[in-house]
Amino acid sequence: MLAALYNGKHLELREDIPIPKLKDTEVLIKVKAVGICGTDLSILKGSYKIPVPRILGHEFSGVVSEIGKKVTNVQVGDRVTSEINITCGNCYFCKSGQKTQCISVRAIGIFEDGAFAKYVKVPESNLHNIHELPFEEATFIEPLAAAIQTFEMAPLRETDKNVVILGAGKLGLLILQVVKNKGKKAIVIGRSNLDLAKKLGADLVISIDKDPVKRVMEETKIGADVVVEATGVPEAMDLAMALVRNRGTINLKSTHGIRWMTDLTQIVVRELRIQGSRCGPFPAAIKMLEEGSVHVLDLISATFPLTQIQEAIDAATKPEMVKVIILP
Ligand SMILES: [Zn+2]
Ligand SMILES: [Zn+2]
Repeated sequence: MLAALYNGKHLELREDIPIPKLKDTEVLIKVKAVGICGTDLSILKGSYKIPVPRILGHEFSGVVSEIGKKVTNVQVGDRVTSEINITCGNCYFCKSGQKTQCISVRAIGIFEDGAFAKYVKVPESNLHNIHELPFEEATFIEPLAAAIQTFEMAPLRETDKNVVILGAGKLGLLILQVVKNKGKKAIVIGRSNLDLAKKLGADLVISIDKDPVKRVMEETKIGADVVVEATGVPEAMDLAMALVRNRGTINLKSTHGIRWMTDLTQIVVRELRIQGSRCGPFPAAIKMLEEGSVHVLDLISATFPLTQIQEAIDAATKPEMVKVIILP
């Protein structure tokens, strides 16, 4: 089958990759759409090291084309998406409903082969039916679930009136819409896509070079109740610290692979909460997309066939690109 193999240096487009063989509990999916994620870009840049060779791609949707002998919940022809993490089901974290921390977790497209390919195999238990959702929209289920998880880990309080979102990329624009669905005021600070943020419901958008701290202080008097960091650049943490009010919450969504220096005393005396979160609940994300309470069509910047994956990756690294999708 055709697949893009990452060899530790670059992507090789190859025709000779065997179609994955299924174990009894696994399902083969014909990939219909797969998004390029910041994680894929970090891996390709070399800042996130993974075992190679590997087929990347973990935000995908497709059609079930074959099922293992013991698979009972899905059928050939079903339209599906898959959770990224394959978990053991037996450890402390799996048994207590904290699957993201499974001690033997293996992520598809990172530690198992992913979906920059004609076919990908996943365990049956990872699958979710996407019903009638278009395949391109379904590639947003994974990042939308991650956006939802932000406020599962640090629920918004009734007294929280406003949320500042740093970054107007894919994740920032999804978090914005989740915030609006929760009825809070949303302020987006970014470099590009600010018109799009406005169109998607932001109450206020501020360009990063237009003194955002001063603007947010004018707007909130005491600072933001909640700041979500979704920029992908570590310096944004200093901005988050300057924007959040005392006893406020900073939610971290982007990974940087480097250390961040800060004055820890500030966190103590200002009684700040700093909360990380990763993947989230797929059923909630599917429901929001089906209800139309989150809009993702405007977030698709470009689509490419798998044969042009390098062009797609190059496009995805441009800051004005929100989301690039491969249609194998
Ligand atoms: Zn991703
Ligand atoms: Zn586990």
